Amino acid sequence: MEDEPQSKRRLLQQKHTAAGIHAPLRVFHPSSSPRREDADRSYFQSYSHIGIHEQMIKDRVRTDAYRDAIMRHQNLISDKVVMDVGCGTGILSIFCAQAGARRVYAVEASEIAIQAEIVMRDNNLSDKVIILHGRVEDIEIEEKVDVIISEWMGYILLYESMLTSVIFARDKWLKPGGLILPSHATIYMAPFTYDEMYESTINFWRNVYGINMSAMIPHAKLCAFEEPAIETIGGENILTWPSEIKYLDCYTVAARDLESITTEYRFRSLVQAPLHGFAFWFDVEFNGPAVVPSESHSQLTDGSSSFNSSNGSSHRKKRVKSDQVIVLSTSPEEAPTHWQQTLLYLYEPIEVKQDQIIEGSVTLAQCKENSRFMNIQLQYRFCTSSTGGQSFVKESVLR
Ligand code: SAH
Repeated sequence: MEDEPQSKRRLLQQKHTAAGIHAPLRVFHPSSSPRREDADRSYFQSYSHIGIHEQMIKDRVRTDAYRDAIMRHQNLISDKVVMDVGCGTGILSIFCAQAGARRVYAVEASEIAIQAEIVMRDNNLSDKVIILHGRVEDIEIEEKVDVIISEWMGYILLYESMLTSVIFARDKWLKPGGLILPSHATIYMAPFTYDEMYESTINFWRNVYGINMSAMIPHAKLCAFEEPAIETIGGENILTWPSEIKYLDCYTVAARDLESITTEYRFRSLVQAPLHGFAFWFDVEFNGPAVVPSESHSQLTDGSSSFNSSNGSSHRKKRVKSDQVIVLSTSPEEAPTHWQQTLLYLYEPIEVKQDQIIEGSVTLAQCKENSRFMNIQLQYRFCTSSTGGQSFVKESVLR
């Protein structure tokens, strides 16, 4: 399917419906435009597949962070009403039930809701965890909720545009002063070097069993570098301190804030190396509803974070790990997650010197054709004798 949005976990190409017994689920029907419905249909179809849920649950960095965050906020969850936006198999809803929630509305638009209902029954949770099979935009319940939990993050955080649904749920169903988990999110960017990858996919063609196949190189570059790549790199691949592209407060962010985000950046290379492109990643924080002053974050360091501010903005310090703020990070410096990093390769590597300035701007925008896709426009400049400070633009679409 050409124009089908790939799920964030990018596992699925096959078509299927969820098999099994049709439990007596509360099913809600969409109220949106036909075009939006088409895009949503293929999106939710990808989440009907078991593999995507297996991959998410097996990502221990992710799942443990959510469980820890739920247990850390047990005082705000116990005896309270929770909404799990996009419950999938229901795992986060069950964690909330284990934390003492009085009731959990577990909302899921894909067919995996059918299995989630059975999971609740098998674990004697059917009267506590109410599975609502439909989009959160379409469901109706008879009370407001104290807590919203959701695992909505896509590549570069915003691919998939699921945060928009969480915002909708927040504005319609969350009581004033309620808790949202996760509460804050930050997108980061940094230039990277990745010789091994360049050698194995591009320079490989120079000598194939002793044959000169360099003619393949332009095609190989087009295939490998036209679209953003989802790959895991390490801290050693990063050439500078990262730059913060966007900081989002899930208590206050509006859907229109997510349509297009433009940020200027300025990096100073820490080493001399070939620059192969720009890497993007994100982290999310699980704070309570009261805004924690940023100073207290910076005092909570245990010294375990190796990245810090490149421009000194105060909330960047929240990335410093502490034993008080739970952070789920997809940084190349941290243990890998299924989100990996998103890499934007340049068609030609550029040799940068130590202390060299790399600057420009980046725009992350929802695609007009399908708002779940993301258009990335990168503008960059290097002040070298070969480029003469000239600006370049790279535009690519994550679909
Ligand atoms: N909470 C589960 C699944 C997270 S993946 C877990 O942590 O394992 C996100 C899930 O949200 C998917 O199953 C997807 O189908 C669902 N989803 C996305 N947008 C939704 C919406 N608007 N309404 C209901 N479910 C949605």
